[in-house]
Amino acid sequence: MRLPRIAYLWRNRTGRCTVCGKRTLFIFIEALETVRNHAVCLRCHSVARHRHLALCVMDAFSSRGIASLGDFSKHPGMTVFNTSTRSSIARALGKGGNIVCSEYFDDVEPGGSRDGVLCQDLHRLTFPDDSFDLVLSEDVFEHLPDYRKAFSEVLRVLKPGGYHIFTIPFFFDRKTRSLFDRVDGRAVLREPVEYHGDPIRGQIPCYTHFGYDLNDQLSEAGFEVRVEISDFEQGCRFGTFNCFTFVARKLPRPE
Ligand SMILES: [Zn+2]
Repeated sequence: MRLPRIAYLWRNRTGRCTVCGKRTLFIFIEALETVRNHAVCLRCHSVARHRHLALCVMDAFSSRGIASLGDFSKHPGMTVFNTSTRSSIARALGKGGNIVCSEYFDDVEPGGSRDGVLCQDLHRLTFPDDSFDLVLSEDVFEHLPDYRKAFSEVLRVLKPGGYHIFTIPFFFDRKTRSLFDRVDGRAVLREPVEYHGDPIRGQIPCYTHFGYDLNDQLSEAGFEVRVEISDFEQGCRFGTFNCFTFVARKLPRPE
């Protein structure tokens, strides 16, 4: 956990963490404008957007007996693909034959592994069609040179009726904007390149600022999409201020 700045500590508050399930203290370490990336749970180190994503997962799967992220490992028939191995979400999901977690390594062939960690490239997943009930990604798609291809890959590997529940930085008042040009088939980022923090690589470039037309793009691709926005009561109880999460469901095949 990054060291908190003293100036923000007075905002710390108690609540219940939807990732680790415990009563906890949410530590504010940065300015309020970036609160979705902090308000860190003292117990599991989840940040606000992790907890909101967990809330949306539980809401989507409550009718199937899921009351916490850890419950998926008790339901072997329900399959989960998480595009991270290191986050508090991955730790809360735990281990199980029905839970697949991966990272992207640019020098490992997708489907291979490094130090026991599965490598997957969202542009070309190695899973069969209709594999998963749930795919999770946390602030990943803005870092992909071809996010449309990646969404179509997620759609392919989801079972009909399955969910891709994800967070991305989002501009509610703008259309989606690419931060790169295609040159000879390669994505070349425009200067100045925008970098975001990454637990493995330190800093990774941002390729896309997503905006309101993303919903239409996902709907055309075959998802039914809604954006859940944390309300004030949830913010107070779960430390999810300023959070929003995309809940995209692969439309079931017609009877
Ligand atoms: Zn926690």
